[in-house]
This record gives sequence, C-alpha cells and structure tokens, in this order.
Amino acid sequence: MSRILLSPPHMGDIERQMLLDAFDSNWIAPVGPDIDAFEREFAEVVGVPHAAALSSGTAGLHLALRLLGVGPGDEVIVPTLTFIATAAAVTYVGAKPVLLDSELATWNLDPDLLAEELAAAAKRGKLPAAVIAVDLYGQCADYDRIVPLCEEYGVPLIEDAAEALGATYRGRPAGSFGRIGVFSFNGNKIITTSGGGMLVSRDGDLVARARNLASQARMPVVHYQHEEIGYNYRLSNLLAALGRAQLRSLPDRVRRKREIFAFYRGALADVPGIDFMPIDPAGEPTCWLTCILVDPDEHGMDREKLRLHLDDEGIESRPVWKPLHRQPALADARCEAAPVAEHLFARGLCLPSGSSMTPADLGRVVGAIGAVPKWKTC
Ligand SMILES: *Cc1c(COP(=O)(O)O)cnc(C)c1O
Repeated sequence: MSRILLSPPHMGDIERQMLLDAFDSNWIAPVGPDIDAFEREFAEVVGVPHAAALSSGTAGLHLALRLLGVGPGDEVIVPTLTFIATAAAVTYVGAKPVLLDSELATWNLDPDLLAEELAAAAKRGKLPAAVIAVDLYGQCADYDRIVPLCEEYGVPLIEDAAEALGATYRGRPAGSFGRIGVFSFNGNKIITTSGGGMLVSRDGDLVARARNLASQARMPVVHYQHEEIGYNYRLSNLLAALGRAQLRSLPDRVRRKREIFAFYRGALADVPGIDFMPIDPAGEPTCWLTCILVDPDEHGMDREKLRLHLDDEGIESRPVWKPLHRQPALADARCEAAPVAEHLFARGLCLPSGSSMTPADLGRVVGAIGAVPKWKTC
C-alpha cells in the first residue's frame, strides 16, 4: 500500500498543457505573458486590484516589510503559533519579532492580547512598525477586531494568507484584509507552482515597487541602473503558467479540502478524546490541513503516540506548528506566556488533507485512528 502524504502537489492535464505551452513559447524567464496573466487572474480571485508574482511566500513577507519601511530597531507583532517564515522575514529587515499567543476560537492572533500590546507600546511611546496576522491552516484571523485595532494605532497590517487562498471572512476573500497580503505556492499549499508566492495590495504604487524590488531594483533605463538594493525574487514565466492552470481548479480544490474536513469530523465523532480545530462562523476556511486535538487521558494515546502509530500504518501526519517562542533560532524574541499555543502544539495533529485523496485513502486514515489499541484497558 502506498504511503498517504499530508498535502502532496495535485496536478492535472491542464497543468501539463499550460506548462508545455509556456515552454514552447520560449518565455523561459522571470518575465513573460504568463506572469502578467497570472497576476491579473490572481488579483481577480482574491478581490484585490494589484498583485506581484514572486519566487516564494517568504519573499513576499520580506518585501512587504521593506515596502512599509520596517528596519533595524523596529518591532513587528507576529503570532507565536505559525510557520517560521512569518518571523524570519522580520529578522531579514533587522527588526525584532514580538510573539503573541493565539486565541482558542480561531487558533490565530488573540485580539485581546494585540489590544493590550498596542496600548502598552503606545504608553512606552514606541509602536510596532507592523502587525503580521496569519490565517492558520486556512482560517482567517478575527479581522473584525484586528483591522480596527491596527487602524486606531496607525500600525500597518500585513496578512500572511499563505495557507488561506480560497478562504473568506464575512464574505471577503482572505488576503484582502491588510495593507498587504501574501500567499505561498509551495509544494504543499492549496495551489502550487513547485515554489512561488504572490504579494497583493489595493495600493498599485506599492505593488509596482514590489515588482521593482523583486527585480534587483533595476531602473527602467537601458544601462543597468540601481538606486537601492533589491532582490532576485520574481517568479519564472514557466511556473506562472503552472500557477494559472492550478488557479482554474481552485474552487474544486477548496471544496474537496472542506469535504475532507467534514468527512474526518463525521467519521471520528465517536472516537474518544479527539476534537477538531474550531470553525469560526464569521468565515469559510480553506481547510488546508484538517487539524485534530488529542486528549491523552480520554483517547488513551497522546498526540505523539498517535502520530507514530499512523506512521507505522503508512500515513503521514504532523504536529501543529511548534510555537516560535520555543524555536532556538528565535530565542531572543520577546514573548509573554503563550499557554494557548503551547496547548495546541502539545495536542494538535494535522491529518492527511491532500485534495487528490481518494475515499479509500480517507478510510485508511480513520480506520487507523479508530483502530488504535486502547491500552488503558489492555
Ligand atoms: C508556507 C508558509 C509561508 C512561506 O511560504 P513559502 O512559499 O514556503 O516561502 C509563510 N507563512 C505561512 C503561514 C506558511 O504556511
């Protein structure tokens, strides 16, 4: 039996055809018609007028901070429960991440803690240079509260929507809530270009500047003229063709991810000690990965034992993100207690959620979880 992976790339015939068409056109460069079209089509899907195609989501976060003028001596608020890239980008510009805990309702940046931190920072006389909210596992953060808070203090909001392409909040697409939104097309994300990302904003000048900074900040003259230091962060035209093809099936992919979540929730309802990531009624998540919480006393196994058991059955699963305040690489980042993130890391497990999973695959996963020996009784 083949191994069931967490979220492998899911390609179809259109992907192959559009990639080969781009190849045959000889636009094998970080410029070309598929890049322009991908940016246009993507902007339409996320309901934001401007988009810049990049080599990764991390590059998008780095550029977002550069565009907002964040630099050495600045602080940037980041949730501690996220992938390292969110905070790594802060360190790239010489700023310091301030790590805040999540709320249980969405697993995202806790708006009460954000309010406290902003009030305390205002009192100290030095506000953070930016707030990065993350839409974890494809569920939007509480923007009803986070957006007004950032506006009240005049702190720009960046939305890390790397996992949330196709999600909505109050009917509005994920990625559209900050001054800048960032997406990832890494191999395990909702759509993939093998590696890639997108920066979006309502501010066309900002996005034009992002494209320029992503192309070594080269000025529009024939000789190579550079008035500031940029990066080599543009997406290749070949990969943009792949992205365009993937974007066409985005609604199907998200629908399938939501079906997978609903299937797991139904099938595991009677297994003791298994809970699901809560769904905030204000939004519709992508369900990028279905995440469960394992109560070791009720279930009989802790999260790690269950993960190893699934591994033995040929099923890949992963702990929920290890909080950033527990990462040695960020040991000097400021973080008050983060009991929610600690709790979610201790109990949280991400189940295989690839949009190409078959009913038989899903049956194997729930069978393996349901078939867990209850050694409390043996
Ligand atoms: C994947 C991911 C990123 C980084 O995207 P890359 O394209 O891999 O650089 C950033 N933030 C979050 C929350 C992610 O899941």
